[in-house]
Amino acid sequence: MDTSTLAGLQAIVGHDAVLTDPQDLQRCGVDRTSFWSPAPSVVVLPGSIPEVQQLVHLANRLGVALVPSGGRTGLSGGAVAERGEMVLAMNRMQRLLDFNPVDGTLTCEAGMVTARVQEHARDRGFYYPVNYAMVGTCQIGGNIATNAGGIKVIRYGSTRDWVLGLKVVTGAGDILEFNRGLVKNNSGYDFRHLFIGSEGTLGVICEVTLKLTRPPKDLCLLALGLRDFAAVLEVLRQFRQRLDLTAFEFFSQRALVSVKEHTGLPAPYEDPWPFHALVEFDQASGTEMAEARAVLQYCLEQGWVSEGVFASGPQQFRDFWRLREGISESLAKWTPYKNDLSVTVANMPDFMQAADVLVAERYRDFEVVWFGHIGDGNLHLNVLKPGQWPLEDFVAACSEVNRELVQLVARFKGSISAEHGIGLLKKDYLATTCDRREIELMRGVKRVFDPNGIMNPGKIFELTGPDGS
Ligand SMILES: Cc1cc2nc3c(=O)[nH]c(=O)nc-3n(C[C@H](O)[C@H](O)[C@H](O)COP(=O)(O)OP(=O)(O)OC[C@H]3O[C@@H](n4cnc5c(N)ncnc54)[C@H](O)[C@@H]3O)c2cc1C
Repeated sequence: MDTSTLAGLQAIVGHDAVLTDPQDLQRCGVDRTSFWSPAPSVVVLPGSIPEVQQLVHLANRLGVALVPSGGRTGLSGGAVAERGEMVLAMNRMQRLLDFNPVDGTLTCEAGMVTARVQEHARDRGFYYPVNYAMVGTCQIGGNIATNAGGIKVIRYGSTRDWVLGLKVVTGAGDILEFNRGLVKNNSGYDFRHLFIGSEGTLGVICEVTLKLTRPPKDLCLLALGLRDFAAVLEVLRQFRQRLDLTAFEFFSQRALVSVKEHTGLPAPYEDPWPFHALVEFDQASGTEMAEARAVLQYCLEQGWVSEGVFASGPQQFRDFWRLREGISESLAKWTPYKNDLSVTVANMPDFMQAADVLVAERYRDFEVVWFGHIGDGNLHLNVLKPGQWPLEDFVAACSEVNRELVQLVARFKGSISAEHGIGLLKKDYLATTCDRREIELMRGVKRVFDPNGIMNPGKIFELTGPDGS
């Protein structure tokens, strides 16, 4: 980047908030994917909305692409800068701006780490329910830009369900405020929802107003060992009929072995059952534990569950959750090729059976690890790279099989991106989940908010050229 542009950036955000050190460029130009080489030209850290706006104006004048960057925990390459882009990192914008106890809302800057949002809510007697392994690192702005899901969706929904207001700087450099914290507001198109899940392609999310709720009362956790996958869904049905679940998670024995090695934690039981589930519920009325025991007994009698263990105290509760939440991290050393698939829960048994056959046939050389938020119809299928395989060959082999897998997902009217976003990783397959006319409309929406195409170009779709299918 030339010296006059650097001087222009420093004049906007200050000398220390413009990073050009190669290590900073490497660190800030990538997310948790490993398939692209970070190559941004500069990293800037704005400290306010006017600074973001000036940066966007400058980028438009110079024709420089901007990549908004949150906690960089993304799994689809959305925050990757590999073409000399300017990374706009939100780390300095993390102030709490307002708490409204009457409406039960919290307003903060978009760079606030999600765990801080949860703490601020908790300190004030409220609860922000979007939760998963990375909340200590990801930012609320990144969560909104990807519409993050996680382990509580079965009860509380995704990030989208908790956003009551957004202040953004569009790709054209306009500051817009959407919905202003209102519960009811039928005033034309609700652009807030366009920005949720837009992966930084329309503008920069700068401030957010979130709805909060009451904290759950006395959470209980039950670990289940199961013989086959079909039983997992039957067990889910039984528990759902009698309890308001706060989570229902699934993982295979291979996943458990990996996370046990990684964390040093013991399994909930000794026998290596092929599949496992974690069932969480709260005790709002006091009768839930008796109900849960009765359902467990019934499932044991039917042979659907082979073993069930309730977490016996706060420590075991946390340990059981670490066994589920640590899976992704425990697999990282194998550079996994990740699929984040969803179908309706009703379609799940048939889909799983078909996917299992396909994977066994086509991934003969690779180990495949299944886990996921099964209560939401969301499965993570992770293909592990054999140690000796070059990364490029591995990705090429996975992409080959992927074409068939996404066709299968399309046949079941499912999604290739349940919660991680499209980014770079899945854009070639977008047309299997979205109609081509829908993609063309998305391009049109992008042109409205970002007429010069400077916001995270090449993510989700290319502005011109063929759609992936
Ligand atoms: C171990 C592990 C487990 C995970 N589990 C889950 C899970 O259970 N559920 C789930 O949904 N995800 C999960 N993820 C994925 C990831 O944490 C989420 O996608 C998260 O929402 C990304 O937030 P981030 O702040 O890290 O964003 P980043 O990775 O920095 O960015 C993600 C996208 O958002 C854009 N963006 C970031 N900030 C802004 C902003 N302020 N304005 C506009 N655009 C912005 C970026 O350009 C990029 O396209 C997991 C990741 C890991 C590593």
